Amino acid sequence: MASGDGLLNHDLLPGEKGPQDACGVFGVWAPGEEVAKLSYFGLYALQHRGQESAGIATSDGNKILIYKDMGLVSQVFNETALNTLTGHIAVGHTRYSTTGSSSWQNAQPTLGRTSTGTVALGHNGNLTNTAELLDLVHERYPETDGELRRGNTTDTAVVTALLTGDTNHTLEQTALEVLPRLRGAYCLVFMDEHTLYAARDPQGVRPLVLGRLDRGWVVASETAALDIVGAAFVREVEPGELITIDEDGLRTQRFAESKPAGCVFEYVYLARPDTTIAGRGVHEARVEMGRRLAAEHPVEADLVIPTPESGTPAAIGYAQASGIPFGQGLVKNSYVGRTFIQPSQTIRQRGIKLKLNPLKEVIKGKRLIVVDDSIVRGNTQRALVSMLREAGAAEVHVRISSPPITWPCFYGIDFATKAELVASGLGVDEVRQSIGADSLGYLSEDGMIEATEQPRERLCTACFTGKYPIPLPESQHLGKNLLERPGDSNGCDPGPDSELEGLLDANAPLVIGDPGRQE
Ligand code: 5GP
Ligand code: MG
Repeated sequence: MASGDGLLNHDLLPGEKGPQDACGVFGVWAPGEEVAKLSYFGLYALQHRGQESAGIATSDGNKILIYKDMGLVSQVFNETALNTLTGHIAVGHTRYSTTGSSSWQNAQPTLGRTSTGTVALGHNGNLTNTAELLDLVHERYPETDGELRRGNTTDTAVVTALLTGDTNHTLEQTALEVLPRLRGAYCLVFMDEHTLYAARDPQGVRPLVLGRLDRGWVVASETAALDIVGAAFVREVEPGELITIDEDGLRTQRFAESKPAGCVFEYVYLARPDTTIAGRGVHEARVEMGRRLAAEHPVEADLVIPTPESGTPAAIGYAQASGIPFGQGLVKNSYVGRTFIQPSQTIRQRGIKLKLNPLKEVIKGKRLIVVDDSIVRGNTQRALVSMLREAGAAEVHVRISSPPITWPCFYGIDFATKAELVASGLGVDEVRQSIGADSLGYLSEDGMIEATEQPRERLCTACFTGKYPIPLPESQHLGKNLLERPGDSNGCDPGPDSELEGLLDANAPLVIGDPGRQE
C-alpha cells in the first residue's frame, strides 16, 4: 500500500523516501488558559517529530472538539480554527506514520466512545503486538463503531478501541487494564471530557515529560515544547507510569514495572538539540559525540563543515577536539521540501541542491571534513560528496557521529528495511566507496553511549546492534501496512478537509470525516 510519501515530501532528495521520525504528542490541563493555542505552540515546537498530519482535541468538561488534517501544524491550523477549539483540556499530535499509511483517516488524535463519554488519544511510538491487540478488540467489541470501522489502519486506532472499555468502567480503570497489554513503544496522551491522562511504556523508549503552568499541567514529548509554552519542567513521565490530571489534581499510578531502554537515536538525531532527556542535554551529547569522533577518527584537513542542521553540534565538537577550524560550507534552505508540490523533472535533477547549496569560495581547494549524525541509505552523503567535489573541494573526509545503522527500528522510527540500510550489507570501506569519500569514520558504539551519559543497560541501541529490548513478533505480524486492507484507498488521498466536529452529546454516534466517503 502506498503511503503519502510522494505527497508530503520533506526529504533531502525529492521523491526519495528517507527515514522518518517518531511522532510528537502534547497534552494540557489548564482552566482559564487558551489550551488550543498552548497545544498549537507545543506542537509547533514538536514539528520535527512528524510532518505528515497534525491535530488537536479539546474539552470544556462537557464535550470534545477535534480538528485535524494532513500537513504541517502551521498549514493545518489558523486563528479561527483555534478559537473554536474551546475548553480547558487538550491533547495534540504531529504524525509520522509507522503503522498505517499517511492518510487523513489515520491522523490523530483518534476518537472513541466510552461508556461514560469520549476518549481522544495521541500516540508516539509503535506497538509490536498490534495484531494480537486487534484480535482482542474483535473479541471484546465485535460491534466497535470507532476509528477502525472508519478505515483507520493504525496501531493507535486499536488502542483507542480498547480504551472505549466496558460499561461501568471509567476510562482510568480501563486504561489500567489495557496499558499492561500493550507491547512496544508508546507515549500516550489522552483525555475524556474531564480528565487528562499520560502514559509511557515500561521501557520508556520515547521521551515524555511533565511540566507545570501557573494554572495547570502540561505533558509533552520533549522539554523544548515545555519551554515554548512557558511551562516549568517537573520531571519525566516514568516508564510504566499512568498520570491522571483533573480538578482533584495530579495522581500517579504504576501499571508495569519500569525496565528502561530509552532510544539512543533520540540523542543522535531525533530530539531537538534544546531538549533534555533523562537529565542529559541533547545538544551537549551531540557535541560530545563529535569530540569523541575526532579522537577516534582523526584526519589532516583544513576545515570541518557540518551537514546542516542535524550534523552541526557534532561538527562543533569535532572541530573543538581536533583544533581544525569549523566553517559553514553549505547553505540550507529549511523551507524547501516542506511542500506539497512535486518538483519538475529538471528541478529534480538538481537533487540535493534544492536543499543544500555549497559556498564555493569556502570550499574551493580545501581538504574538508564533513560531519553528519548518521548514514541510513547513504543518499545524503553520496550526493553531498559529489556536490562538494564539483564545488572544488580538494579532499572530502566523511565523519559520522553514530555507528553504522544496520537494523530496522520497530519502536517508532520508520527506517528503511534491512536491505535498504547501506551499512547492513557493506563494510565501512565499501560504504566509503559507495558514497565516494576519501575516507569515512563512524563513532563507536561505546563513544556514542558514553556521550549520552546514560548507563548502557538503560538504552535501546537496536538499530546499531540488533539487540531488541522488547521482543518482536514473527515478521508477518510486523510492518507498516499490517492493518491495511486490500482495496483501501491509497494513503496519498488527503481525505476530507479539516473538520471541526462537536460531539455535543457524548451518546450520539461519533462521526468524524465525511461518512459518505466510506466504502
Ligand atoms: P541517508 O541519506 O543516509 O538515507 O539518511 C541520512 C540522513 O538522514 C542524515 O543526514 C540524517 O540527519 C537524516 N536522518 C537520520 N535519521 C532520520 C530520520 O529518522 N528521519 C529523517 N527525516 N531524517 C533522518
Ligand atoms: Mg541530516
